[in-house]
Amino acid sequence: MTAKTLFEKVWERHVVVPETVETPAVLYIDLHLTHEVTSPQAFSVLRARGLKVRRPDRTLVTMDHSTPTDTAQVFGGAPIALASAAQQIRQLETNCREFGLELIGLRDDRRGIVHIIGPESGATQPGKTIVCGDSHTSTHGAFGALAFGIGTTEVGYVLATQCLLQRKPKTLAIEVGGSLVAGVSAKDLVLAIIGRIGVNGGTGHAIEYRGSTIEAMSMDGRMTVCNMSIEAGARAGMVAPDDTTFDYLRGRPRAPQGDDWERAVADWRGLRSDPGAAFDRTVSLDAAAVEPMITYGTNPGMVAPVSGRVPDRPGDAVYARALEYMGLAPGEPLSDRPVQVVFVGSCTNARLSDLEVAAKVLAGRRIAPGVRMLVVPGSQQIKRQAEELGYARAFIEAGAEWRESGCSMCLGMNGDTVPAGHYCLSTSNRNFEGRQGAGARTLLASPATAAASAVRGRVTDPREFLN
Ligand code: SF4
Repeated sequence: MTAKTLFEKVWERHVVVPETVETPAVLYIDLHLTHEVTSPQAFSVLRARGLKVRRPDRTLVTMDHSTPTDTAQVFGGAPIALASAAQQIRQLETNCREFGLELIGLRDDRRGIVHIIGPESGATQPGKTIVCGDSHTSTHGAFGALAFGIGTTEVGYVLATQCLLQRKPKTLAIEVGGSLVAGVSAKDLVLAIIGRIGVNGGTGHAIEYRGSTIEAMSMDGRMTVCNMSIEAGARAGMVAPDDTTFDYLRGRPRAPQGDDWERAVADWRGLRSDPGAAFDRTVSLDAAAVEPMITYGTNPGMVAPVSGRVPDRPGDAVYARALEYMGLAPGEPLSDRPVQVVFVGSCTNARLSDLEVAAKVLAGRRIAPGVRMLVVPGSQQIKRQAEELGYARAFIEAGAEWRESGCSMCLGMNGDTVPAGHYCLSTSNRNFEGRQGAGARTLLASPATAAASAVRGRVTDPREFLN
């Protein structure tokens, strides 16, 4: 029998019609995550053509991108300030009613960022094919699922057919061995990986993250790593499911229960690359050599250790333009740059463990004068847990704003934006021009670096706060 990779095993289970030279494969989709921003046009097409949603039971719908994070706007007392956001929210409610879909709506205590509530509810499971009209769907690959983002037109295809046309990507193994040192997190690791292979390093590939570092990582850490696979250009990122995965999923409302659970786990244990399985490419990294990382440019590949300096790339016009936008010059140290905004949130780093790290740094301290810090939990469930555990109190007492869940400043389309010219140290995943608001300058880093920098008011190595 041919040795197969994890990706090949999941792919082969879902091929309805194999690909040919002329045509892509028809792939069955187990779970379609849907939200208010990339679905309105797809529902309009269904309506115009008199089509139904093929599998409402395999369609999980929520709202996150344009939802406000201000409590009064979510729970009443103030109208939703942005008219475009209010319109998208109302339209999704209408579409779900009309097409018979369950909606995890604005005031639902199960609501949150789509890539956080999928795993949290147990809907994300090993071996599934999962799609969503959002690039960071790769997050779900942390469970051994094949998960990737799709465009608005494809959202319509999946709603109507529960299938998708896809070309089979190549496979890339990223082997990480050794232990991350104190103060260095999964976010630093994935930024270091992107720095190493570049923003196109994974193009056309499904990545499998492997090795002792990944095996020792929590599900939260694995989700952070897989989340940013797309920033290396990859189609998907995956981790083989193991006991850490099963412990995370056991008992969650949408996970299999009773005998079904035992059968599912027995099957999931086979979802790992066979010994000797061939990858198209392999890249190896030593986790112990990774330092706290921070971006300085306008894509996540422009990244260096916090202790480093802005590199020089003579003759590279795109790079020069990026530094001009960021107001930085080659040779400048990255640490000590003043920041005006700090954002802890997004589907990359708004899980309970991320908030715990940030709360530990902030406990008993105040954020620097002139700094605005937003802490936005990834889901309402995480919000409740963070309040029970005292993290929320640490944020509020430090002077940060504690918000309702949502995408918030990750993309600046819900009212939470960074002013032009301001530096925002952000735990999100994209630092493109204008991503957090017109003219905003984004520095991507870990929750520990974000919290330490909020206290100092300057980019700060979190290891200074370890003792
Ligand atoms: S937090 Fe950002 S990347 Fe994640 S789903 Fe929302 S907009 Fe997309």
